[in-house]
Amino acid sequence: MRLIDSHSHLQTDAFAADLAEVVATARDAGVERLLVPGWDAGSSAAALRLATDTDWIDAAVGIHPHDAATASATDWAAVVRLAGDPCVVAIGETGLDYDRMHSPPEAQLANLRRHLRLALDMGKPAILHCRSAAGGRDAQDALIAEIRAVGCGGAAARAAFGERPPAVLHSFSGPVDYAEAALELGLAISFSGLVFRRGEEASADVARLVPSERLLIETDAPYLAPPGVPRNRAPAAVQPGAPAPTFSGRRNSPMWVRITGEWLAERRGERPDSIGDGLVQAYDATFRRHSMG
Ligand SMILES: [Zn+2]
Repeated sequence: MRLIDSHSHLQTDAFAADLAEVVATARDAGVERLLVPGWDAGSSAAALRLATDTDWIDAAVGIHPHDAATASATDWAAVVRLAGDPCVVAIGETGLDYDRMHSPPEAQLANLRRHLRLALDMGKPAILHCRSAAGGRDAQDALIAEIRAVGCGGAAARAAFGERPPAVLHSFSGPVDYAEAALELGLAISFSGLVFRRGEEASADVARLVPSERLLIETDAPYLAPPGVPRNRAPAAVQPGAPAPTFSGRRNSPMWVRITGEWLAERRGERPDSIGDGLVQAYDATFRRHSMG
């Protein structure tokens, strides 16, 4: 099965000890395209270094809603500068998180708006994280309102993106009518291992209604391990005396995107092989890769 991973934090400490092995294993598992998003200035620069080193890996640069209040003007200036690099194919991850609320909503909204404007200016889609307070949909509703207000779905987005999605809902979570509103605005939707969690049952219905050219999958590695990912073991590449992996619990990695890919094929009544071709096409249509000019 051909695979993509539209959201994988390979620059985290969780992969510091065995990154080369993780990347090789992903490739062996069929992963042909991989996007590494930043969450602050430093991790965005690290994402770009990975993308510069490996031609089938791309970068996204941005400031996560958790970091919206603490990011300085210098940090934002660094993100804007990095965004111009041809290996950077998207802006993010950014968005709204009203669940953990590590930054006040006003700071999150201001941070989201500057990312959406940058995405439109550069013609590089925004990567959007969105979590509402438990049981609610406040963040999803606010996100749709912001996307609409900045002009996605209108002439500004069409001028910058043509038929390409101006933004991606990463690690989709939410009700069906939220997905419908996002699709109406031209967005792409990316599914992660979150679909297997209790409370995310609507994702099965959403999986059936996303058009294939706007359908993506991801791991959000090292987070959101789907069922079937084994408990941590020491990576084979670790030399005696090397630092132990710092990620506790089950570490997700790009090779496991297959589990979500198979789930998606089943939900849509498609063969894994044919859905894999579609995923690679959707990735290339969404993210303009530097190697393709
Ligand atoms: Zn993420």
